[in-house]
Amino acid sequence: MKTLLINGAWQAAADGRVIDVENPATGEVFTRLSRATAIEVDAAVRAARHAYDNAWGRLSAAERGRLLSRVAERIQACAEEIAQVESRDTGKPLHLARKDIAVLARYFEFYGAAADKHHGEIIPYLNDFSVQVVREPLGVTAHIIPWNYPSQMFGRTVCPALAAGNAIVVKPSEEACQSVLLIARLMQEAGLPDGAVNIVTGYGNEAGAALASHPDINLVTFTGSPAVGTQIQMAAAPNNVPCVLELGGKSPQIVFDDADLDKAVPTIVAAIVQNTGQTCSAGSRLLVQKTVYDEVVGRVAEAIARIRAGMPEAQVDCGPIITRAQFGRINAFLQRIKDSGLPLIAQGQVAEVPAGGFFVAPMLFGPVPRDHELAHAEAFGPLLAAMPFEDEQDAIALANATEYGLVAAIWSENGARQQRMARAVVAGQVYINCYGAGGGVELPFGGRKKSGYGREKGFDALDEFSTTKTVVHRFGFE
Ligand code: NAP
Ligand code: MG
Repeated sequence: MKTLLINGAWQAAADGRVIDVENPATGEVFTRLSRATAIEVDAAVRAARHAYDNAWGRLSAAERGRLLSRVAERIQACAEEIAQVESRDTGKPLHLARKDIAVLARYFEFYGAAADKHHGEIIPYLNDFSVQVVREPLGVTAHIIPWNYPSQMFGRTVCPALAAGNAIVVKPSEEACQSVLLIARLMQEAGLPDGAVNIVTGYGNEAGAALASHPDINLVTFTGSPAVGTQIQMAAAPNNVPCVLELGGKSPQIVFDDADLDKAVPTIVAAIVQNTGQTCSAGSRLLVQKTVYDEVVGRVAEAIARIRAGMPEAQVDCGPIITRAQFGRINAFLQRIKDSGLPLIAQGQVAEVPAGGFFVAPMLFGPVPRDHELAHAEAFGPLLAAMPFEDEQDAIALANATEYGLVAAIWSENGARQQRMARAVVAGQVYINCYGAGGGVELPFGGRKKSGYGREKGFDALDEFSTTKTVVHRFGFE
């Protein structure tokens, strides 16, 4: 299998090693990937540097934008094919994969149009000086992306980096990267110069570690677990290479006694079952004002009980857990929950599925004690923790009582309360009477606390993947 894209050529690993890829719905191996090591990573970084110094680096912002726009059109034309590949590779239901591919196309469309609209400024300084703050690309950027939304993650990180003028090396997750390989081919067909985008498939602790520690990259961006985020920073630190880190969350859905429950309940349920809970911004904590706790939890329980997990091609709400390793982790978490005696309030259904598949039914637990593991640790599965609170002050304390700070939702009809809560909750995004896990290409996104730092999406990502140069010109007077 030739799955390494280096300088425009698809290659196998020099030592010929491969990685088996399993179908999460059946547990069977369905394809293989080339297993990159430091040798191929080095070649990819060199190729990116060469492209940056030559053909790619010479393109104007408008030309870069035009190329991204052309890719957007190709993605739209091949959307069904990419969705099918994504669904089989990740196990997510086809209807969800289709939405992901629509978002992928939006990334190319948005950053294609934005490439030539991101610019510097002129600063008024002393009278005989002209000061320009010029926006420049960083050079070669490294992108390590996870398996939960492979195509969306690719679009989210790659598009702004390219729009800003960087040449890039991507290390997708070996667990799910078939869509990424397909999109890379579409980018080649659209006329992207060789070396502008390089892909190294491989293991995190091998190819990923070699990429993050490479001395000739100028930024590394990573989405995944806080523990690996720390390793990435340590690998990049000797070279003083900056990082952009998106490290997950334990995001609260905060429901007050004046909330419109007809609107809130379906959104709350969707925010935890989407992608079988394997979403960094999953709404995994249901915080409810005591006076309406029983009513809210009762209605959410009814809705959870109706959720169906099953084969990706069936009309179901959830697919399987994406990998054998994650399935094992979630089952171990569930065993600890059971051992602790925490009450299970409701559980969804698993339809008829093959014996080897990695299926977990969505579950609602509560009332979860504030010091319980489920109250603060990310499960990365469809497990929702219900917890009561007294009043606004208590809601703020509870909402901020985890190490994470990614997303939060406030459900209330009181405008002043909505604003007070939005300001007080520590998070990169706050939703009022709505929730946006994924999507929102235009909306700056990123973490606080252990959820990471740096901003992706929107124009903020263009700032993140570029730097400024201040040019001071003394022209004097006649
Ligand atoms: P992970 O260990 O954080 O891995 C994410 C990506 O980083 C993968 O491509 C991985 O490759 C790579 N990687 C691993 N170790 C690396 C290293 N030392 N240097 C460079 N890259 C490295 O995530 P996971 O093991 O797949 O999942 C574990 C937990 O991470 C989940 O339970 C969840 O809590 C969290 N997670 C969060 C997000 C998110 O969107 N924020 C996404 C995925 C996972 P390998 O696949 O080869 O390890
Ligand atoms: Mg993995």
